[in-house]
Amino acid sequence: MLDPTQAGVSEERWRAATAACFAVAVADVIRATHDSCSLVFDVPAEIGSRFRYRAGQFLSFKVPLGGQILTRSYSLSSSPECDPKLKVTIKRVDDGRISNWFNDNVKPGDRLMVVPPAGLFVLNDKRRPITLFAGGSGITPCISIAKTVLSTTERKLRLVYANRDAASIIFEQELGELAAAHPDRFEIQHSLDDRDGFLDVKSVEHHAVDSLESDFYLCGPGLFMDIVERALAALHVPSDQIHIERFVSPPDPDAEREDAAVTGGEAAHAAPEKISIVLDGNAHEIDYQPEERVLEAARRAGLDPPFSCEEGYCSCCMAKLTEGKVRMHTNDCLTPDLLEEGWVLTCQSVCVSRKVKIEYPD
Ligand SMILES: Cc1cc2nc3c(=O)[nH]c(=O)nc-3n(C[C@H](O)[C@H](O)[C@H](O)COP(=O)(O)OP(=O)(O)OC[C@H]3O[C@@H](n4cnc5c(N)ncnc54)[C@H](O)[C@@H]3O)c2cc1C
Repeated sequence: MLDPTQAGVSEERWRAATAACFAVAVADVIRATHDSCSLVFDVPAEIGSRFRYRAGQFLSFKVPLGGQILTRSYSLSSSPECDPKLKVTIKRVDDGRISNWFNDNVKPGDRLMVVPPAGLFVLNDKRRPITLFAGGSGITPCISIAKTVLSTTERKLRLVYANRDAASIIFEQELGELAAAHPDRFEIQHSLDDRDGFLDVKSVEHHAVDSLESDFYLCGPGLFMDIVERALAALHVPSDQIHIERFVSPPDPDAEREDAAVTGGEAAHAAPEKISIVLDGNAHEIDYQPEERVLEAARRAGLDPPFSCEEGYCSCCMAKLTEGKVRMHTNDCLTPDLLEEGWVLTCQSVCVSRKVKIEYPD
């Protein structure tokens, strides 16, 4: 079990930060490549229902390190339809704190604090073919989706998988076996920087141009995603055919507090004293303090709204803003269409108008 006090974090802070977490034991650690490892989990039967997931979703982990509690999300590389146990795969990031911590420290039997599966990067129920663009560690939700697509649908599947070099290809053998088992449905194109040059907009267009009727699933680090998005935009692929998961770390909690202090004047000036929350069909007028997140206010008032990662990724806490204005600190999951419809992430929303009404979906 993690010891927060050894990392300079008090028991009390740790308890509060891990309120939405479950302790889950690592059953196995598998070296995936020279710079990545997979963690397989034993989820206790009594919390099994909380850990049901859809291909493409992720787990979030709370790790005490250097006096802070850092949250990092890792996509499930297992498939709910094909694999008996949940598995995530973590690739080292240069100078990255938690990815290296996981690769260097975690061993079978360790218990980690985990937020249950969440995320909107999941299969839709269309019949369109699917084209996956994965960059490096971005293969993790893609292989989960690939296994599920091949085992539960008739949809055709293409994977374009970019890596630095052959040694960096995660799941090379498993992917090869899947393609060999489904030669009419699954095609893989590897793009290796040291062999083919960096993937650029033109080469992505070349990979995508014959699949314009596909659903595109894009996953990987920032630069890779920008290139693929630009290429799909140049090919006029409609936005409802493009599904995106960006692999980023949230801001450190200390940095967030500094941000709040800088912007505090504006929010305090406009902040309401009470806000309206509709939850499970019941309306509540609750107290509100300047700079407080809507989720925080609702929980302080004794309500039990849904939430999970509390970092703006998972969408579990989304609700509709039906009156007033909020400012979201982070939004890594709501699409422009959802924002347009008035959806907000309550874990990230600070009220900035005198009246605010938030309605949770039933
Ligand atoms: C939904 C989702 C799913 C993901 N799934 C996966 C997955 O399946 N596999 C995977 O490998 N990754 C995944 N990621 C990425 C993962 O969550 C982390 O972002 C990644 O592991 C890097 O974290 P880190 O703590 O090692 O790096 P960080 O410490 O966050 O550092 C990231 C970068 O910032 C620099 N940096 C170092 N110290 C600091 C500092 N003090 N302040 C600011 N920047 C600093 C580092 O040099 C590095 O380049 C996912 C991300 C999301 C959002």
